[in-house]
Amino acid sequence: MESTTRADGLVEAARQLFEAGVMSHSGHANLSARLDGDRFLLTPGFVRGLAAHQLATVGLDGRLLEGELRSVSTEIITMHSTVYRARPQVGAIVHTHSPAATAFAVAHRPLPCRTEPMLRFGQPEEVPVVPWGPRGSDVSVRGIADVLERRPTTSAVLLANHGLLVFGPDAAAAGQLLVAIEESAGVELAAAAIGGAVDFPPGALEAVRASIARVAS
Ligand SMILES: [Zn+2]
Repeated sequence: MESTTRADGLVEAARQLFEAGVMSHSGHANLSARLDGDRFLLTPGFVRGLAAHQLATVGLDGRLLEGELRSVSTEIITMHSTVYRARPQVGAIVHTHSPAATAFAVAHRPLPCRTEPMLRFGQPEEVPVVPWGPRGSDVSVRGIADVLERRPTTSAVLLANHGLLVFGPDAAAAGQLLVAIEESAGVELAAAAIGGAVDFPPGALEAVRASIARVAS
């Protein structure tokens, strides 16, 4: 039952990425959701028109346990399993080539947190850049693990010359943060043309947290 819920959540999160307009022209993305300690659901190599029964079940050791994956997808298993290993509390991961965020990744520029959505939806700090390595290679995977260790509270990384990797407690949260990051990257690029984005004043995060707590109570 629980795995059905997670599968549906993953499919819905994938659909919302298209609806939000954050996908690259190719529509490339992969999403996963942790099932239990050492297994996760993974999109099969495409996300457009995805149905829940098409998700594969993969072990953290990289083994395909159930379903089918397109051959290229086997390369991305380690990209996901590395994050699940490093962050026991992460429940879902989303990877895209969203254009504005990927511009930062290609420029090897960390994305600062200078917008309300990033501050609110789980990334109140800059998104760091992981050095380039071929997708799924030891270099790439070690790079992700290193950055996650150095930045214990980041919920996203930019993959140099590649794209964006975002994680959260569930697929909906990870997808929502991905949209916030892509929107923020676009805004940063636009602001650069008129003098550049400006940092929040000190204490902004605390002020937002207090405001959220007031609304919730
Ligand atoms: Zn990619």
